[in-house]
Amino acid sequence: MRLLLIGPPGVGKGTQAKFLVNHFKIPQISTGDMLRENVQNNTALGTEANIYMKEGKLVPDTVILQMIKKRLNKNDCSNGYILDGFPRTEPQANGLDKLLKSLNQRLDCVMVMNIDDSMIINRLSNRRSCKNCNQVYNLLYDPPKTDDICDSCNVKLFLRDDDIPSTIKKRLIIYREQTEPVIEYYTKFGITKIIDSKGSIKDIKNNIIKIVTRI
Ligand code: AMP
Repeated sequence: MRLLLIGPPGVGKGTQAKFLVNHFKIPQISTGDMLRENVQNNTALGTEANIYMKEGKLVPDTVILQMIKKRLNKNDCSNGYILDGFPRTEPQANGLDKLLKSLNQRLDCVMVMNIDDSMIINRLSNRRSCKNCNQVYNLLYDPPKTDDICDSCNVKLFLRDDDIPSTIKKRLIIYREQTEPVIEYYTKFGITKIIDSKGSIKDIKNNIIKIVTRI
């Protein structure tokens, strides 16, 4: 099963991807998580990527495509995977097509998630993450047991640099300009499914699983 989750930042792609990982036993491939790991480990890739990420801009396509090529060639991807946050531009979608052809693979489904911009700003500015275990919380919808402290690691949660409202607005503009055309790209292949993403996390999860098991 090769799935792609596409939608604006904060729509819940990462949360739903984690459910799908458990359900289908396939890895989540989040370019955002991979980049943040590189930033945290001070790699050359991380240092370059962080220049763009801090500003809410997209990391150059060549950097992303090289990173994805390495990742999809790993053994744990042989039974499928969930792409989360990639591709984000048409050149990335073209690059993925070429890569999939070379691996003799194809995508089974592109799930399109969307909600209103005001809801996105509200969700992202209340998102908090744990540096230690990467668990993501939302102070409004899925808060930790103790204010601002990770339930598992007992360390202080942090607000991502790119989740401050002025940067969220920039990321939304980039999403509309550069990522929405990717949805049209996949619509032509007839593999897109629209996921109503306004309901509860559980309702969205059940809806996604129902759709995916029908493929
Ligand atoms: P995310 O966690 O998916 O919201 O990604 C966080 C940031 O990482 C984005 O705002 C971009 O700066 C960068 N990023 C993640 N995935 C990509 C991608 N596919 N193409 C370009 N930049 C990306």
